[in-house]
Amino acid sequence: MKKIALVTGGTRGIGSGISKALRDKGYLVAANYHKGHEAAEKYSTETGIPVFSWDVSDYEACEKGVEKVCEKLGGTVDILVNNAGITRDSMLHKMDPSAWSIVIATNLNSVFNMCRVIIPSMRDKKFGRIINISSVNGVKGQVGQANYSAAKAGILGFTKALAQESASKGITVNAVAPGYISTDMTDVIRDDIKEKIIAGIPVGRFGTVDEIANAVLFLADEKSSFVTGITLNVNGGQYF
Ligand code: NDP
Repeated sequence: MKKIALVTGGTRGIGSGISKALRDKGYLVAANYHKGHEAAEKYSTETGIPVFSWDVSDYEACEKGVEKVCEKLGGTVDILVNNAGITRDSMLHKMDPSAWSIVIATNLNSVFNMCRVIIPSMRDKKFGRIINISSVNGVKGQVGQANYSAAKAGILGFTKALAQESASKGITVNAVAPGYISTDMTDVIRDDIKEKIIAGIPVGRFGTVDEIANAVLFLADEKSSFVTGITLNVNGGQYF
């Protein structure tokens, strides 16, 4: 039977690449998104991947959303990719408390929400793959991103703890920490700042969505059963 994969924020950017790569590998894939209905419907028509709208920062919405996914795909989730994320950048001395709260809720609480809803069925099945998308800026910190860096670093601690809790149940829990990848999220960065960032990347460019999707495929594989609790840095050779 085909394994079921659910990708949050799976209709645009990195998530859209992950959803497609998983589909191409033969998984049954569902892609979650939030408000971008038009992009999601277009994506679904082009790829045949069913799309489901809910806010991953809302625990009850995650419960209902996962229920719908399981109904539609005819089973419980085997592979969960927690990819949805946002930025609300500003220097801390100017940061609005709402910019802190929404980034923590969307990027970190969401990972708790989705894992809390899905892990009981993985434990029952004695199989699961959880892949949490962190960031280079969670590993090293970034000016103007205290909220984002805190959430993405929080994901790394969460991943290690849940990996240890779940290891005896056939469930692996890992993080991927992408470097800068060309998507809508990074399109808003000014060109002069992009040039400075690229100067610090040994490979000499931003990464691609496919390069992150490939790392996710490795961690999702049934044969990657001895890899758990790691952070896989996919960042063009940056070391800190
Ligand atoms: P995009 O902005 O291109 O896409 C974000 C996706 O997340 C969209 O599908 C969006 O849905 C969804 N989303 C946002 N908020 C919510 C929510 N509350 N509930 C459900 N879905 C939501 O981002 P990227 O593809 O660039 O980033 C994907 C992940 O990778 C993020 O976690 C990001 O932090 C991380 N990352 C990105 C890097 C980069 O350089 N791009 C570098 C390192 C990490 P909708 O279309 O409805 O808005």
